[in-house]
Amino acid sequence: MEEKLVYDFEEGSRDMRELLGGKGANIAEMTRVLGADRVPAGFTVTTEACVAYLKGGDIPDLGEALAHLEEKAGKQLGELLVSVRSGARESMPGMLDTILNLGLNDTTVEALARATGNERFAWDSYRRFAQMFGNVAKGVPTDQIEDLIAARKREAGVKLDTELSVADLQQLTADLKGLYEFPEDPREQLEAAVRAVFDSWKGDRAVAYRRLHGIPDSWGTAVNVQQMVFGNMGESSCSGVAFSRDEITGAPEPSGDYLVNAQGEDVVSGVRTPHDLSEMATSMPEAHEELIGILRELERHYGDMQDTEFTVEEGRLYMLQTRSAKRPAQAAVRFAVDAAEEGLLSREEALLTVEPAALDALLHPTFGPDADFDVLVRGVPASPGAAKGAIVFTAREAVEHDGDVVLVRPFTEADDVAGFDAARGILTSEGGKASHAALVARGMGRPCVCGASEMDVDLAAKEMRVNGAVFREGDLIALDGTSGVVTADDVPLVDPEVDENFETVLAWADDARRLGVRTNADTPDEAQKARELGAEGIGLCRTEHMFMAADRQPLMRAMIMAEGEEERKEALDQLEPLQQADFEGLFEEMAGLPVCIRLLDPPLHEFLPHPDELEGAERERAEALRETNPMLGTRGCRLHIIYPEIPRMQVRAIVKAAAAVRERPRVEIMVPLVAYERELSLLREIIEEEAGEGVSVGTMIELPRACFVADKIADQADFFSFGTNDLTQTALGFSRDDVEGRFLAKYIDRGIVDRSPFETLDTSGVGWLVRLAAWTGRERKPDLELGVCGEHGGDPDSVAFFDLAGLDYVSCSPYRVPIARVAAAQAAIRGVSDPGDPSGG
Ligand code: ADP
Ligand code: MG
Ligand code: MG
Repeated sequence: MEEKLVYDFEEGSRDMRELLGGKGANIAEMTRVLGADRVPAGFTVTTEACVAYLKGGDIPDLGEALAHLEEKAGKQLGELLVSVRSGARESMPGMLDTILNLGLNDTTVEALARATGNERFAWDSYRRFAQMFGNVAKGVPTDQIEDLIAARKREAGVKLDTELSVADLQQLTADLKGLYEFPEDPREQLEAAVRAVFDSWKGDRAVAYRRLHGIPDSWGTAVNVQQMVFGNMGESSCSGVAFSRDEITGAPEPSGDYLVNAQGEDVVSGVRTPHDLSEMATSMPEAHEELIGILRELERHYGDMQDTEFTVEEGRLYMLQTRSAKRPAQAAVRFAVDAAEEGLLSREEALLTVEPAALDALLHPTFGPDADFDVLVRGVPASPGAAKGAIVFTAREAVEHDGDVVLVRPFTEADDVAGFDAARGILTSEGGKASHAALVARGMGRPCVCGASEMDVDLAAKEMRVNGAVFREGDLIALDGTSGVVTADDVPLVDPEVDENFETVLAWADDARRLGVRTNADTPDEAQKARELGAEGIGLCRTEHMFMAADRQPLMRAMIMAEGEEERKEALDQLEPLQQADFEGLFEEMAGLPVCIRLLDPPLHEFLPHPDELEGAERERAEALRETNPMLGTRGCRLHIIYPEIPRMQVRAIVKAAAAVRERPRVEIMVPLVAYERELSLLREIIEEEAGEGVSVGTMIELPRACFVADKIADQADFFSFGTNDLTQTALGFSRDDVEGRFLAKYIDRGIVDRSPFETLDTSGVGWLVRLAAWTGRERKPDLELGVCGEHGGDPDSVAFFDLAGLDYVSCSPYRVPIARVAAAQAAIRGVSDPGDPSGG
């Protein structure tokens, strides 16, 4: 049987998002849940049709689906107008554009005018269509279109689009159509539009967005063709967006924005400043009440906070879209706690609604509570957290500028997204909570203030003017995306206060998770921060960081430069008390919790200046130590085997420190870079000679050979800790510091990898090595303790894998500890049968 490539909205459901895209699947679901009279009819051309088209095929035949739609609408395409809406598996805001009012031409526009008795409306709709079709389907640049509109307004002597007369609109439509080859035939229009949406999947903006969010190129997008309803039919019509709860705070009241007498894109583009949803209760009470009821129903049905788009056509409410609301961390934790308390969700279900990576924002700074500053301007609090930096006006400057910057724009577009990534915060003069700037900033966890309308951003002059004051590129600005306040004063930023909902979520996560969560910490400060954030021990203390301190450097250098063992021992004897003091600080902080200390790991030359800066014997020694490939050279346990005095000193310092502190820590001594079991047995002897038997000795597992002989290594080890950074480097033969700026982007482009294997573990390759070592190691020694101390220990998708692989704990940097706690809980809840959608979707 031939594959079905077009689905009527009545045939789909939310479970079909891979095939129908998120938007299509949810429109279908809404059609079933709310009834066909609430959702304009239509059909979805599938993502598989897109994939086939992009491989060189054509779009599927739309005849049957269209005939069905025409039958339902009681009119033919042309009189029947449709929107053509893209929708991938995951929403990609503003990336692939929508065409409205398709079907209009010189003949059908007259019919529309007659049918509605509103000539201006008909011509305005036609003008919009000519504009969108030209831009999206024919690639006419926005500037060219804007120029035409501006010229027409100038000639007509008016300022606003809405002041253009019918004759002006007719002329403008003709002008717009003159910019490209406009197909009068509605069917031809439809097919061209579907092709254009498919093509846009390969457009620069879409590709850039996918890179940033790790979305595979192979998915493709679906296209939804839907009967138009009109929010621009006059004062009893409107278009808007509505959230089932406050999308910024998570408070249980619906929120949103709407514009009277407008079509959807007007609201989303942030060009006109919209009304708050609450005002609709007075201006359109019936539609408002219906909407509130529907929001509640959708939330109950989906078991999650919803983000919807709606249109009211002459008093009648239509739902055009729903999806799970993207939300900042404070709203996420509030929703989770409220939903569990309201009985909407169980605790475990509620935990699954929290995106772990987003929790970072709750750990971000705010303005100091007692800070004294003058408010420069206020805007819409669009994405929480505070930011401070130099003003930049373009994405490019944001990327190129050294140091902290704040991106300042009238409003933002897809091309500005790279600037969001580089900036501390975003400030715009136009648009509301649903504007592009707000959505993207929240998605990326950047503080944002929007619609600060007293501010005039002049991009041409590279100036921002507020109440007579002028600001230029490089001037300091600070904003608080939680309150909407902007200031030019150098306010101190302080660490956030504890959010009670966050504490609750973390407590639930601790109940649910199986994996332990430790931290990577080298100093008492880091250890203290990590404990505050819930770390249950130290999974990795990098002792080399202790030798980098200014007072250690000369001693370290003397030790390295030493001619013979005696001289080296002398230097080590001087280092020993310093090292001991470092460990004492760490042990005090960790008060009895496990502390895993890795013996010196990096190549010795890292502690020396460049040979050119040295003279005589020192220079010779430094030259002798230089290696072509130091990361694969004399480092890790290799160093300890040739210079056993080094581990001996470190172990003595550890033992003495452990005896000196109030609460004896559970010390674990870790040997780095072991490949052969004999390396570990030799070092275990040395360690036991200094520390006595009974000390816990283990090894990093970070070389493929170690994974293959893990059973033999386990004979010598009390624990394994997977060093997934080096394991990734050595398994792939990738040098982390060299791949990022070079070929990795190309690899992603060519579909070889979806994202950096240094961010998210390559589960099928490197992960297989982890599983193998965990399995054979445990087979030999059932009580072998297994942990992870690479960067991956704080990456939610990787954490899910480590849970599956049966490890005991993950260890990550202090600020990632809460993220790991929640990720570990989610992994446990989802369980072995469903390791979770790695896309998070
Ligand atoms: P995006 O993914 O950019 O939000 P949409 O496909 O949701 O694009 O379309 C943007 C807006 O266009 C919608 O919010 C809605 O207001 C308007 N729109 C889309 N389809 C229709 C329709 N059939 N009738 C009326 N308005 C529509
Ligand atoms: Mg859009
Ligand atoms: Mg939409």
